Amino acid sequence: MDTQDLTRMLHTKNDSKIVLLVADGLGGLPVEPNGPTELEAARTPNLDSLAAQGVSGLSIPIKPGITPGSGPGHLGLFGYDPLKFLIGRGVLEATGIGFGVNQGDVAIRCNFCTLDANGNICDRRAGRIPTEESAPLAKLLGERVKIPGVEVIVEPVKEHRFVVIFRGEGLGAAVDDTDPQKTGVPPLAPVAHDEPSKKTAGIAQEFYSQAVKVLADQPKANGLTMRGFATKPHIPTYEEVYGVRAAAIAVYPMYKGLAKLVGMDVIGAPGTLEEEIDVLAKAWNDYDFFFVHFKYTDSRGEDGNFEAKVKMIEEFDSVLPRVAALKPDVLIVTGDHSTPAKLASHSWHPVPTLLVSDVCRPDGCTTFGEKAAICGGLGQFEAIHLMPLALANAGRLEKFGA
Ligand code: ZN
Repeated sequence: MDTQDLTRMLHTKNDSKIVLLVADGLGGLPVEPNGPTELEAARTPNLDSLAAQGVSGLSIPIKPGITPGSGPGHLGLFGYDPLKFLIGRGVLEATGIGFGVNQGDVAIRCNFCTLDANGNICDRRAGRIPTEESAPLAKLLGERVKIPGVEVIVEPVKEHRFVVIFRGEGLGAAVDDTDPQKTGVPPLAPVAHDEPSKKTAGIAQEFYSQAVKVLADQPKANGLTMRGFATKPHIPTYEEVYGVRAAAIAVYPMYKGLAKLVGMDVIGAPGTLEEEIDVLAKAWNDYDFFFVHFKYTDSRGEDGNFEAKVKMIEEFDSVLPRVAALKPDVLIVTGDHSTPAKLASHSWHPVPTLLVSDVCRPDGCTTFGEKAAICGGLGQFEAIHLMPLALANAGRLEKFGA
């Protein structure tokens, strides 16, 4: 029995509200020895006041030392073991553009490439063709390629990247990439490793043959390679596992997609953090659980811009009174991983986390930051344990055993 089996068994319903606020890539590092992290340098009166009321700690996104992508990082926060629920690259790419992959669909990441007169690849990324030029080509493939017995969906992504989804019966995804990883040779034929995947490989081959005819006159992108064939793993929903009606509020497609994978309703079409909070307030009576995602703490960390990340944390802090005014029974503030400006990338470092409820046991923390959080009552813990804690604090978990 794992934790999700327990919550599935023990959850009970009431009218409490839980809010999970995720500042992407929240955790940071000092730039100078003994200096502050981004979060410690930021002026965050609201987070500090929440830290004083609640309980703080540092969450380990996956396992100690493992640097996560935002996909596994969020699955962990949602309480799904990221090592058990593996999201294949094709599905992640489709999810990343907000496409709802169905059970049984095969999703494939594709690259436009440039072929010479002999059909050999001369540029594996079609000169990094701009999105304005590549998106119409992807659309054209979606309109023109017809394969009997299977629905073919083509969605542009960015520059030379696009995704193809095959929707039909009995399709496997154990198919090798067709990108030969070098130029001067043609794309590889799709090779399958089991019976259902042979069907997929046949469809992929047919897709390729039709696609090169459709693209024949295109100067930059007249070929394509296919990578990361994947189907969606069976993922139980929030309703099944936790008994909550869950809503997701995000600006970026990937996070909407991830929330959809666990059965959250994606609500509103906010463009800013303030608008996200507008959506939250408006939907307050319709859901039990709200996931609100803020992207820019991660973006500025990835830029390696310490000061800009500090500003983003301050912007995040400034909306908290609006969230608190809704009087959630449980409010959690955390991140899906650290993105220290010093590293200009995601990192493995545990993430400052705080939880506020009427029944949490307050600790001595009076500020929200990495140094303070490690002395907090949550200590250092794996992110996957946050959801059971949230439910318990919301009075939504019954006793285990007599
Ligand atoms: Zn992230």
